[in-house]
Amino acid sequence: ALPISLQELAKGNLDVKFEPAEHREISEIVEALETTATALSERDAALVKLANHDNLTGLYNRHRFVEELNVELANIAVHGHTSALFFIDLDQFKYINDTCGHPAGDRLIRKVADELMHSVRHSDVVARFGGDEFVVLVGDVDRSAARALAEVILANMRRLAHIEEERVFHVHCSIGVTMIGDATVKPDDLVAEADIACREAKSSGRNRSEEHTSELQSQFRISYA
Ligand code: GH3
Ligand code: MG
Repeated sequence: ALPISLQELAKGNLDVKFEPAEHREISEIVEALETTATALSERDAALVKLANHDNLTGLYNRHRFVEELNVELANIAVHGHTSALFFIDLDQFKYINDTCGHPAGDRLIRKVADELMHSVRHSDVVARFGGDEFVVLVGDVDRSAARALAEVILANMRRLAHIEEERVFHVHCSIGVTMIGDATVKPDDLVAEADIACREAKSSGRNRSEEHTSELQSQFRISYA
């Protein structure tokens, strides 16, 4: 009945169903409440999307990535496998901004995001960490499989060509890889580790991957094959 539906609505249940009312005015009020409840539900959904996704690319954002990383650490604790984290920074990305403007740079970032999504496995988690930085969580891989996947990403990025104002832009990337075997590590520490590896890749000449895995992680089932 109406009072019960109203109580539910007051508790914040936006899926509440109203029974059709006979009195015209009440029926109009009920209709208005339903419209309001639907609008609020849609706004909730939009806010959840904003909270979890990067606006430019639609990829997961940093906040959501860290949540996914926590889930994977729990998986590792239960199943005892190893996983990998990639930190990817585009090489000399400022160039396209400087020559063709920020909107052109934005279009290239979107293209890179698509390329990354198509380069990894379905189960891998790709996120935009910020700026021209991306992260990938590669679940249940050993060191050699992780390296092979980093090579696939590098190869696909080398093939990528982007046209703006009749000019062709190529954007390479540097990838920092860190292996995860110890489930008690903090997500921020893993990202920092992969970031260090990425900077090593930059300083060794860019357009390549480097691995940096802490002593602690290396004690956990990560072979140096
Ligand atoms: P490096 O090879 O050392 O990485 O050089 P880089 O030019 O890629 O420089 P860096 O990674 O330090 O800085 C990234 C630049 O990307 C800084 C900024 O101008 C640009 N950038 C960051 N976020 C955005 C964005 O959302 N859109 C556009 N168009 N450019 C961005
Ligand atoms: Mg860069």
